[in-house]
Amino acid sequence: MSGYYKLSYWEEQLPGTLEIPNAFAPNTDVLQPKHVVVTEDRPTCPKCGSPIGPFGHEPPDEYELEQWGSIFDDIIADSPGFLVSQRFKDCWLNSDCMGIDLFMPVTILKVKGPKRNIKPVPNYYRIEGKLDGAMLDYKRSGSYYIKMTDSSPTKPTCDLCGGFAPPYYDRIVLQEGTVQNNDIFRLYNKNQITLITQKAKDLIEDNRLASCRIMPIEMCVSNPGFIYKDYHHYIVE
Ligand SMILES: [Zn+2]
Repeated sequence: MSGYYKLSYWEEQLPGTLEIPNAFAPNTDVLQPKHVVVTEDRPTCPKCGSPIGPFGHEPPDEYELEQWGSIFDDIIADSPGFLVSQRFKDCWLNSDCMGIDLFMPVTILKVKGPKRNIKPVPNYYRIEGKLDGAMLDYKRSGSYYIKMTDSSPTKPTCDLCGGFAPPYYDRIVLQEGTVQNNDIFRLYNKNQITLITQKAKDLIEDNRLASCRIMPIEMCVSNPGFIYKDYHHYIVE
């Protein structure tokens, strides 16, 4: 095992299957944006100009929270960013983990869901994993495109950020020499993916922080589902 893990709110597909579970991971909290203000700019690739991250958020950042577990989650995925609780923030800042530049306060207006908790809602903060240059190894990840129409891209359009990066992969393998020393980071050429290190996972578990799904990257699969199995696959070499 590589010692890297993907943070996600989706149930992951099982290796070797083509079925998309299309469901949130069980017992994890879900966010519904209510009043979100985003910045006008988003980070772009210095080579091709493609977006390499989401628009930033500015206060007020207001949400309703659907609670599905018996406790409030300390890490809630809101792809590609995350909301983390005060407990997570305190644990992280008391550790030597790296990779979070900003804990931006957000407001939870209301708690909904079948297991709505009457306890006070924790303070939550928006975070993003650092975009530090760590790259997905397309070839060793088994990345591929599927040609749906004549104009469908079949290879990455930028060798730095991927441009239209291959949507599907059989596993996540990191390009050698690209990983920095951050404990939470996004992949430069597949920037919707946020990974954490073993150290960050240990921090979460040792402090019994309730989290969205944490999957070993070897187990992470993205495929288009069985209905597309007859389309032509373009493997990224
Ligand atoms: Zn680019």
